[in-house]
Amino acid sequence: MSEDYNQPLSGNELPRFGGIASMFRLPVATSAKGIDVGLIGVPLDIGTSNRNGTRFGPRQIRTESVLVRPYGMATRAAPFDSFQVADLGDVAVNPFSLTKSIEIIEAHYNALLKHDIRPISMGGDHTITLPILRQIAKKHGPVALIHVDAHTDTNDTMFNEKITHGTIFRRAIEENLVDPNFMIQIGPRATGYSAEDFDWARNQGVQLEQAESCWYHSLAPLMDEYRKKVGPDRPVYLTFDIDGLDPSVAPGTGTPEPGGLTGSQGLEIIRGAYGLNIVGADLVEVSPPYDQSGNTALLAANLIFEILCSLPDCIRRD
Ligand code: MN
Ligand code: MN
Repeated sequence: MSEDYNQPLSGNELPRFGGIASMFRLPVATSAKGIDVGLIGVPLDIGTSNRNGTRFGPRQIRTESVLVRPYGMATRAAPFDSFQVADLGDVAVNPFSLTKSIEIIEAHYNALLKHDIRPISMGGDHTITLPILRQIAKKHGPVALIHVDAHTDTNDTMFNEKITHGTIFRRAIEENLVDPNFMIQIGPRATGYSAEDFDWARNQGVQLEQAESCWYHSLAPLMDEYRKKVGPDRPVYLTFDIDGLDPSVAPGTGTPEPGGLTGSQGLEIIRGAYGLNIVGADLVEVSPPYDQSGNTALLAANLIFEILCSLPDCIRRD
């Protein structure tokens, strides 16, 4: 255990069910100064088109994160010996205005990214990724994108709105925030508004791996291939919509679709990103009111831990 960096409060020091529910029981920081990796909540759900409730996502993920321990047993990763990690609290979104919330999120990440920090954000619905990506691209240029989702989120409009949780990646490509030639979407499936729904992304050069192509096998080879294509230096953003996983493992979400990825495949995708230059990430669309067992938020907390373990230079205790 490193004494140089913040450490999660151990379950052997204070029972896991006690204390303030910060992410991974880490200290809560009010400034990003000196923080290598910031965990940020964005409690937004007014960009959703079906069930709501993701405004409660960050709090619930923090609550379930108390069970996550500091070392990865499969990867031997030691993220809290590798970086200064802190919970940076929540963005003060405006629950009455999506437009204003987008502006608020942009301003928040604009200020945050003046520091040398990798933000890992907890949604919130998927709309949050657009204002975050705008600031990420301002700093790093158009990024490579790993996008796990049951949906491509590349509709042109929804209810005539250009910015919703189902349109953000069309906007991101149009605004040149991501390089579609280094963008992979894993998990789209089920039903669409037209049979051509997935063609727009493919026509931009996106590698679209429909869920069916992922069934029954490991996704490690897919990620090996993607890693080779992207290389170790190009900035990569990872956006993980929890509905990419099957509703049997992640029922607590607003737009569930059958035939999704397994929990293990979710882990393989994130572990397969180790060796890439991940400059930021988010985990979105956890809706606690639909999460009767708490397993969706618990899984989300573990996936966020795995993201920490896949950041560049995360130590492995070999
Ligand atoms: Mn999505
Ligand atoms: Mn989705």
